[in-house]
Amino acid sequence: MTSLYSNQTLKIYNSLSGEKEIFTPLHTGNVGLYVCGPTVYSNVHLGNVRTFMSFDMIYRYLLHLGFKVRYVRNITDAGHLTDDGNVENDRFVKQSRLEKLEPMEVVQKYTVDFRKVLDEFNFLPPTIEPTATGHIVEQIELTQKLIDTGFAYESQGSVYFDVVEYNKRGLNYGELNNRNIDDLIANTRDLDGQNEKKNPQDFALWKKASPAHIMRWNSPWGEGFPGWHLECTAMSTKYLGQEFDIHGGGMDLKFPHHECEIAQGKACNGHAPVRYWMHTNMLTMNGLRMSKSTGNYILPMQLVNGDNDFFEKEFHPSIVRFCFMQAHYRSVLDISNDAMMASEKGFNRLMEAMDKLKSLPASSSSSLDITAWKNVCYEAMNDDFNTPIMISHLFEGVRFINIVNDGTATLNATDLALLEQTMNTFVYDVLGLVNEKESGSQSHVKKLEGTVALLIEMRNQARADRNFALSDQIRDQLLALGIQLKDGKEGTTFTL
Ligand code: AMP
Ligand code: ZN
Repeated sequence: MTSLYSNQTLKIYNSLSGEKEIFTPLHTGNVGLYVCGPTVYSNVHLGNVRTFMSFDMIYRYLLHLGFKVRYVRNITDAGHLTDDGNVENDRFVKQSRLEKLEPMEVVQKYTVDFRKVLDEFNFLPPTIEPTATGHIVEQIELTQKLIDTGFAYESQGSVYFDVVEYNKRGLNYGELNNRNIDDLIANTRDLDGQNEKKNPQDFALWKKASPAHIMRWNSPWGEGFPGWHLECTAMSTKYLGQEFDIHGGGMDLKFPHHECEIAQGKACNGHAPVRYWMHTNMLTMNGLRMSKSTGNYILPMQLVNGDNDFFEKEFHPSIVRFCFMQAHYRSVLDISNDAMMASEKGFNRLMEAMDKLKSLPASSSSSLDITAWKNVCYEAMNDDFNTPIMISHLFEGVRFINIVNDGTATLNATDLALLEQTMNTFVYDVLGLVNEKESGSQSHVKKLEGTVALLIEMRNQARADRNFALSDQIRDQLLALGIQLKDGKEGTTFTL
């Protein structure tokens, strides 16, 4: 059987060329995909989730097209300094002091949180999820190679990449961001380690650890820890090779992180490491970029359980997913109460149609062109994963379902099967939405909570009527089922 990808022309916007290019993988039928993962020193916020969700959709579509995808998304658990670049401000060391935890306890705590969020939002797991701390040896080897070839130098126990030397050899640091070296010098702030560097724009491959720095490893240059940029080069090279198909991340990683990855790759191997660079745009909330540092952020679970000051109610994870997918991954998306309420309406309309779809009657002939409609769904996705256009076609599908259902249009059995298969593919497999009615656990918990709340109300009434036999019976029988009621100042609460 031929794979779907052989009949489709997928175009991807390549940030390196600034153009949409036809996607041709290095090895027919196989795709190597690397996405920069989270820095696990705090909870992921909803903005981070948007970026990872965009790549989840991209991964899902590549799989649907029949590609065999090796999807590597790392966990950054070492070496990511805060913006001022001060070694004492290693994110993990700082957080571990704050929380009075071992740095690896910080890492574990927030890795567990990250995985919980991904499960809740129906993410497919990557095929490899490597950690920076698990690849220190590879990072030391790469650093040594860069010193040996003259692209890096040691200075006072740290090792820096020599950007001026790189450019002298005819390479072009700044190519991804259209920046030249003079701009870079002008824009370099007075960061830690400047006096150790030959040139202000040189970046660290390895940092010497001060006595107080707890995360430290032995190296040929003394005890220290790896630079953040190098970890992605080490892990992508190890699992995807010196050249691979797609590298992704949020737009804010374009500079300097991805620029440095290109320089490291070219310096090590003599050619570009990545064929297609993909960057997702930012999530804003009420017009401002979502970010931990400004305080304008919401945790994903706060949106799901309604425990926040920004939204009037809670939203099912699939509604959040639907909202995100209604924007193209390269556009800014603003999330607000109105936007979420509108997404909920749209999502419910879609799911009502999906329920009807299962019992539509087949006729002897078709009055709708389902094949043409299916083709435009694929065209939208092939045009740089244009999910908002694809969703607008899904609503044309919803219209088809409704008019076949009320008898104003007809479909023969073949077209009916095609309509059902196409809707299922895009709604469930590619967008990753979940039909609440069918998904079980979420809606079961809701039903159970509603039932217990009702029993609490009946118990309150029984107590008001001085019918203590009944009120005790409700409490005791719930307890026997493992549901404990607690009476407090604010009323009765329960744990399931
Ligand atoms: P970090 O853990 O800070 O490295 O971020 C993980 C990913 O989330 C990176 O790819 C960032 O570019 C991305 N990211 C951070 N803030 C936002 C935002 N407001 N909207 C979308 N993506 C974001
Ligand atoms: Zn990275």
